[in-house]
Amino acid sequence: MTSPSPDPATRAAFVPHSAPFQVASAEGAYLITPSGQRILDAAGGAIVANVGHGRREVAEAMARAAESASYVVPPFTTPERARLIDRLIDRWLPRGVTRVMFTSGGSEGVEAALRLVRQHHLAAGRTGKWKTIGLDLSYHGVTLGALAVGNHAPRRAGMEPLLVGFPHAPAPYRILGAPAAPDPADELERIILEEGPETVAAFIAEPVVGSAGGAMVPVEGYWQRARQLCDRYGMLLIADEVMTGFGRTGKTWGVDHFGVTPDVLVSGKGLAGGYAPLCGVYATEAVVAPLAEQRQDVMFHTFAGAPSACAAADVVLDILEREDLVARCERMGALLRQRLEETVGDHPNVGEIRGLGLMIGIELVKDRRTLERFPTEDRFAQRVQAQGLRRGVFYYAAGSGPVHDALLLGPPFTINGEDIDTLVNVLAESLSAAARG
Ligand code: PLP
Repeated sequence: MTSPSPDPATRAAFVPHSAPFQVASAEGAYLITPSGQRILDAAGGAIVANVGHGRREVAEAMARAAESASYVVPPFTTPERARLIDRLIDRWLPRGVTRVMFTSGGSEGVEAALRLVRQHHLAAGRTGKWKTIGLDLSYHGVTLGALAVGNHAPRRAGMEPLLVGFPHAPAPYRILGAPAAPDPADELERIILEEGPETVAAFIAEPVVGSAGGAMVPVEGYWQRARQLCDRYGMLLIADEVMTGFGRTGKTWGVDHFGVTPDVLVSGKGLAGGYAPLCGVYATEAVVAPLAEQRQDVMFHTFAGAPSACAAADVVLDILEREDLVARCERMGALLRQRLEETVGDHPNVGEIRGLGLMIGIELVKDRRTLERFPTEDRFAQRVQAQGLRRGVFYYAAGSGPVHDALLLGPPFTINGEDIDTLVNVLAESLSAAARG
C-alpha cells in the first residue's frame, strides 16, 4: 500500500489533479495562493461566485445563524429559511412559481425535480408518465438520475448500466461546422410521439448549456415551442437554471430571454454565491396541488436549507439587489464579449465566442479556417487552462461530444474593466502557448 501524499491539495481528491493548486484565501474576483499570488477567478469557481469573494456581511450572517440554530430538519421553519423564501417569492421567482424546496447542490435539486414531476403525475392518476426527456448536449449533475437525463458524454462514460433509460432529443444548438440539422423542436415532438406521450412526464433543459458545451444558446424559438409541446402532451417543463439562474445571463433567469415560464425551475450555484451549498427547486401551485390534495410527502435531504446556508443566500440576494448586479452582469458581459472579439476573435484556435451576460463560451479549434477540432485526447481546453493558471487567471474547461474543447467564462458580476483586460490578454497568451505544445 502506498502512503498518502503529504500534499493536502493532492489528498483532497481520489485522483489528484495533475497540478494540485492551493488557495489560501479569496477576495473580490481573486483567489490568493499561500505564497500570495493573486489568481483572477474568470470562472467564479464553477460559475458560482457572483457577488465576489470575501464579503464579510455574508460570513457574519452565517455565523449569527449557526449560533442561533445549528441545525433543524428541513420541513421545520427557521427565521432564516422563512426570510429567504419570502425574498425568493416576492422578488426573484418568475410570476406563478411560488413553491420552494431546498437541496444542497444542483444534482440533488435535479433529482428532486425528477421525483417531483413523477409524483405530480402519480398523484393525478397518470401512472404511466415517468420519463423525463433530456437533450443530447446537456449536463444536469452527476448523481445517477441527473446523469441519466443529461448527456455529457465523458461524465456518463462507463456508467451506462447504472442509468435509467431517459430519452434524449437532438440538441437545439448550432454546432460549429456541422451540416444543417432538422428543426430541433420538430425533433423533440418526434421523440415525444415515439416514446408515447402517455409515458412522458416532463422535458428538462438548460436555457444556456454550461459545462457540456460552453455557453451554447438555443436556436430562436426553441423554448417557446418546447413550452407549447409540453402543454399539448401533458408534460411539465423543467428549466435547469443551476448555472444560469440568479442573473448569470444578464437577466434574472435564463428563461427570461425566451419569455417562457417553466413549471419547475431548479437553481443553485448563484443563490448563495458560493458561500454555502444551497440549491432550490421551485414549482407552480399547479405542480404541487395534486400532491397536496393527496397529502403526499416529498422526501428531503438531511442538510437542505441549513439555517446558515439560508442566511448566506438571503444576504447574497440582498447584495445583488442593492448593488444592481444583474444589470451590471449584462453590461460587463457585453464589455467582456467585445474585448474578447477584439483580442482573440481572429485567433487561429478560436472557433466561436458565444453566450449571454457573464456566461461566455469560447469554442477552441485546431484551425479556425477549416473548423477542424483537436483530437479529444489532446485535451486542448485543459492545456489552455493550465497555461492560464501559470499566468494568473483561472478559466473553466468545458465541452463534451462534438464540442469537446471549450472554455467557459463566468467571473463575479463585480469584475471591473481592468480585470477584464487581464482576463482577455492572458487568454491570448495562454492560447498561443497551449498551441505551441
Ligand atoms: N445542472 C447544471 C446546469 C449544472 O451546471 C450543474 C453543475 O455544474 C448541475 C446541474 C449539478 O450541480 P452540482 O454540481 O451542484 O451538483
